[in-house]
Order: sequence, then structure tokens, then C-alpha cells
Amino acid sequence: MRVIILYDNNAQTGFESGWGFSCLLDHTQRILFDTGDDGRKLINNFGKASIDPSTVNKVVLSHNHWDHIDGLKGFQKFNSEAEVIHPDGFSAPTEISPGIFSTGALGGNPKEQSLVVKTKKGNIVVTGCAHPGLERILQTAKKLGPVYGVLGGFHGFSKFAELEGIRLIAPCHCTQHTEQIRQEYPNQFKQIMAGSILEI
Ligand SMILES: [Zn+2]
Ligand SMILES: [Zn+2]
Repeated sequence: MRVIILYDNNAQTGFESGWGFSCLLDHTQRILFDTGDDGRKLINNFGKASIDPSTVNKVVLSHNHWDHIDGLKGFQKFNSEAEVIHPDGFSAPTEISPGIFSTGALGGNPKEQSLVVKTKKGNIVVTGCAHPGLERILQTAKKLGPVYGVLGGFHGFSKFAELEGIRLIAPCHCTQHTEQIRQEYPNQFKQIMAGSILEI
């Protein structure tokens, strides 16, 4: 499985940064998780990553905040076929592609779904902003099996002990306590930004 970060507040040289998040999961299918806030930047970053947007099978939107969904219109100019799975599409964990699950909508205001991807190493949890609380997302994800890695926006998450046992911890976007997480888990921590590729 490959994860390519296509949109983040920070970017590698050559990629555009912008407040928001998007990543491509290249697994049994190609799933675009969130779209950032600017479709032009998103499409530009697709190009920089040498990925054709028309090859995306499905778009999953984590939650209805502008920095996760406003890039969708720009993306759809290049791919009008991909099915869009909205934040409140499921109320319980549901398989959306072989080996790729939505946690179902969690929380309220706004409802948010995260993804759980089965890999040989264990399950990878992918979050948008983690508004329902990363600990709650992880508890839901663990129903699908042990968690190997977690990446995405962690927002104000501070119950660091909940990350115990997770081998890959890659916070980005809206994460407020990045430095503390790095200090608590120096060997598991991985910095990611637009342009980063994770091979899992
Ligand atoms: Zn956000
Ligand atoms: Zn948000």
C-alpha cells in the first residue's frame, strides 16, 4: 500500500502548500481521501506526484469543512466518474473497497469519518481533522483489528498514551501537539507533508 500526501499546510519542494488535507491511498483501488481547499493546487500536486487524477476510483470526504471539501469541484473537472462518499454515508464501520473501511460517521458538529486500511503489517488509520477525538477514532478502528499506523490531522489530541503500541505515527495538517507527540514517540513519529510518500 502506498499513501501519497497531496495536500497539507506544509509541502515538499515543488509541491504547493495550503491549509487543508488530502491524500491518495493506492491499494486495491485508488481512493482520494479529502481534497484540500483549492482544486487548482490539488491538481497541480497530482501532477507533481505523476498521478493522473482520472485514475482515482473513489473520493472519501472526512467531514464538511472547507479545508477538506472545497477542492472537490476542481478535482471533478479531471474526474467526474469517481464515486463520492460523504461524511455521513455510514453509521458503522463499512468496507468501501477491498480491505478499505470507513469508520462510519463519528461525533456531531461536524460528523466525521476516518478510513482504516488493511495491510500486511496491520491496519492504517487515516484521519481528516479528528474532530470526534483521535482516541474515539482509534477505539472504533481497533474493532477491525490491531492498528499499525495512524496519519492525518490529529487536531487537539493530547491523550498521548492512546498511541502506545502504534508503530507509525504521522500527524500533519491541524495537529496542535506535534512536538509533544514527537517527544513521546521519537521512533514511531514520521513527519509528512504534501509530496510525502509512505510505503506500508
Ligand atoms: Zn481541517
Ligand atoms: Zn475540520
